[in-house]
Parts: sequence; structure tokens; C-alpha cells
Amino acid sequence: MADSRFERPERIQFTDDEFEFSTLAIRAGQQRTNEGEHSDPIYPTSSFVYSSAREAAARFGGEEEGNIYSRFTNPSVMAFERRMAALEGGERAVATSSGMAAILSTCISLLQQGDHVVCSRSVFGSTISLFDKYLSRTGISVTYVNPTDNQAWRDALQPETKMLFLETPSNPLAELTDIEAVAEIAHEADALLVVDNCFCTPALQRPLQQGADIVIHSATKYLDGQGRCVGGVVVGRNKELEEVFGFIRTGGACLSPFNAWVFTKGLETLDLRMKAHSASALEIAQWLQRQKGIDKVHYSGLPQHPQHQLAKKQQTAFGGVLSFEVQGDKEAAWRFIDATQMISITGNLGDVKSTITHPATTTHGRMTEAAKAEAGIKANLIRLSVGLESVADIQRDLELGLAAL
Ligand SMILES: *Cc1c(COP(=O)(O)O)cnc(C)c1O
Repeated sequence: MADSRFERPERIQFTDDEFEFSTLAIRAGQQRTNEGEHSDPIYPTSSFVYSSAREAAARFGGEEEGNIYSRFTNPSVMAFERRMAALEGGERAVATSSGMAAILSTCISLLQQGDHVVCSRSVFGSTISLFDKYLSRTGISVTYVNPTDNQAWRDALQPETKMLFLETPSNPLAELTDIEAVAEIAHEADALLVVDNCFCTPALQRPLQQGADIVIHSATKYLDGQGRCVGGVVVGRNKELEEVFGFIRTGGACLSPFNAWVFTKGLETLDLRMKAHSASALEIAQWLQRQKGIDKVHYSGLPQHPQHQLAKKQQTAFGGVLSFEVQGDKEAAWRFIDATQMISITGNLGDVKSTITHPATTTHGRMTEAAKAEAGIKANLIRLSVGLESVADIQRDLELGLAAL
């Protein structure tokens, strides 16, 4: 019987050697059932059925490819994984239940007792807690370094160092790490470089092309883009990703098919959104710099940023997150935040809605005063994730904050 789908040589496979980023973000990894649906199907099922006992045995035995159980594989999750692998330029991607699950799964599956990690001191707060409170129990030790100082990365290496871990640009101060230089340092030591690419996304920065071995995302942020779901993903070579997959399949930190579907749809607009977030953030950073009451603006798109040249080299734009110091102390920062009326007060970022937070008492609140001082998380610092509302309206809301200083 003729299958109408095969009358036209419609392209279903989209690979990164043939297609550009914006096309891949919309089409890579797409799938279609015999119903001919145009949007991706969603597979909310825990398990899969077999046509016979023989087939069930062959699937479980690994002699036959196919789905068994959604903790192992699920078609909606695999579509998201294929698209992320194409966008980051990796051989394989494995999705996880959250960004933190992506970091945990990568560390647990690729490190063992006695191994050492060199980590940027300016990574996500829960990443530091994960290393210090939990991975330390398994005998994995960590040294934190100033992420902008290449020599500090080199000096922190030990014979047992197996992984270097960083986030660039950092949150909330937009400190950059030279991915190419630190990749070289990692590889001289036979260690893996892992980059948390949450702030730039592959639309602005592709760490694997710059020498990183593994890229990690909190899909919760820009990959979703509309603040709907929590999830994560790990991208890299087959060799390491097989280990990560093995842990997730056994440890259960898998992504739900519904969330995977939301992320896959979110990726369709990633390229446009990141360009728009970056353009608005640059405009607002320049504007904030000129306002009375603002001491300093931290954004790598500003020519005054100490690593502006590096930002131009390793990113195609500067992203949607900036931070600024207001004149005064914690009370002034809180007055500023409380005087805004539209911008959401929330710790999340990477949303089409602009969000504002006071890092020293929220996202970075658990750090000791000494650690905050060393990392530059001052009491008068405010972080803004610039959304896609009109720039003029965002500025009018920030003016309410300025007037309250
Ligand atoms: C949010 C975030 C994470 C953690 O992701 P979850 O999805 O919340 O688990 C990790 N790294 C960075 C840079 C983040 O912003």
C-alpha cells in the first residue's frame, strides 16, 4: 500500500554540516507519526508494548533497538536530545530532569573517589553546594578559582584533576572565562572541560567548537524561554555521553516527555529570542550607565567591560542578563526593586518576561560574607534578566526604581 508520506522526498533529517543554526533550531530532530501532524507529537507513556514475547526479550537483551521504558528512552525526549546535539555541535545529547541533575549526572558518571575538580568560583550557587556538600562525601575534591585568570586554572591542577568546570559569562557579574585557553589547560592535564552554557545558549556561544568536551544546560532558562518547565541536558561525544546516559537510566534523573516537548517547541524560537534579548539588554545596559544613582553596570557588551574583546571573540552577542550596583547599601537595592511595578521579582531568568533579583540575599544568600566579598556579590548589586517587553516600558519601570533610591 502506498504511503503518501513517501511521494515527496520530504526532508526529515537535518544535520549541522548542511543547515544553518536557525534552521536546525526549528527542524533538527523533528519527528512525525503516520497521522501527518505538523507540530511534534508528544509521547506521554511510561512504557512501550511489544508484538511478542520474543520481541520483548530481544529489546531487553539489546539485540533489537527500540523503546522499553521512559526512564531509559522516550521519543519526545529523544527529539529534544537530537535537536540539542545538532545545535551545540555534539555527537550526542542526554536530557535530564533539571539543570542540576545534568551537573550531578555528569560528575557522578565521569568522576570517581579520589578525583579532583577545578571549578570557577563564580558558578551557580547550587553547583557549589553540590560539590561541597554532596560530591565531597564520595571523595571527590574541588578547588575554586578566579574564572578570569588563566594562570589560576593552571596553578590549581593536581595529578588527580579529572575535570575543569565553568560557566561563562558568570552570574550575576558577567565575568568571562577564555574557553579555548582553559580547554588547552584541561587537555594538557588529561582532564575534561565542562562548560555550563546556560546564559549564552548555543545561539550565542558554542563551547564544543572552542575546545570544551561537554556542555551542560539548565533548559529551564533560555531553552524553554517562557519559564514553564524545569529540565536540563548534557551534550558531548558518544564516549562520555554513554556513561552519563547509563547513570540517568539507572539513577532516574530523566526528563519527562511533556517537558521535553515544551523545550523542543521553545528551541524553535531560540535564535530570534537570543538576538532580541541581547539587543534589548545592550540598550538597557548603555542607558543604565548614564543614569544618576547607578555606580556600575556589569555587562560584557559594554566596551568598558574588562573582557569585552574576549566576549566579542567567543560569543556572537552578549546575552540578556546584566547586573548593576546602585548608590547605597542593601536597603537602597531593595527600595529600587520594590519600586518597580512590571518587572517580576523572581530568581528565575531567561524568560520573555523581565525579572529582577537581589543576589546577595536570594540566589547567593547562602554564601558566607567572605565568599561574597571575594566573588564581588555586593549588597548594592541588582540582577536584571532583560525580557522581550518593549525596551521603553522596561526603562520606565526601572526609572521608578531609580526614583526610589
Ligand atoms: C538555573 C541554573 C542551573 C540549575 O538549573 P535547574 O534547572 O534549576 O536545576 C545551573 N546553572 C546555571 C547557570 C543556572 O542558571
